[in-house]
Amino acid sequence: MLEKTSYHTFRGKRWRLVSVPSRRLDHDRGECENPTSSGKTIRINRELSGEGMLDTLIHEALHACLWDLDDEAVEPTAKDMARMLWRLGYRPKEEHDVER
Ligand SMILES: [Zn+2]
Repeated sequence: MLEKTSYHTFRGKRWRLVSVPSRRLDHDRGECENPTSSGKTIRINRELSGEGMLDTLIHEALHACLWDLDDEAVEPTAKDMARMLWRLGYRPKEEHDVER
């Protein structure tokens, strides 16, 4: 999952999105660099999949969009959004391919 590096714009600023080995994140699920830093990167733990991956992508995107919000707000928001999208059937392309 997230095989390739990609770039995404949040509120007019661009982040690089990469998946990294778990140890690089101290076994956290992801991290988002400060919107004011140059070469901003969002790192996602490459061991994640399924709804956990979706949750983490939304979580880090929320940090990128709303840097002043802390995890107390971001964590349950991302979780609820991921659950809704997952229940509605949203899946990464690779998982659709596997289902065939
Ligand atoms: Zn967070």
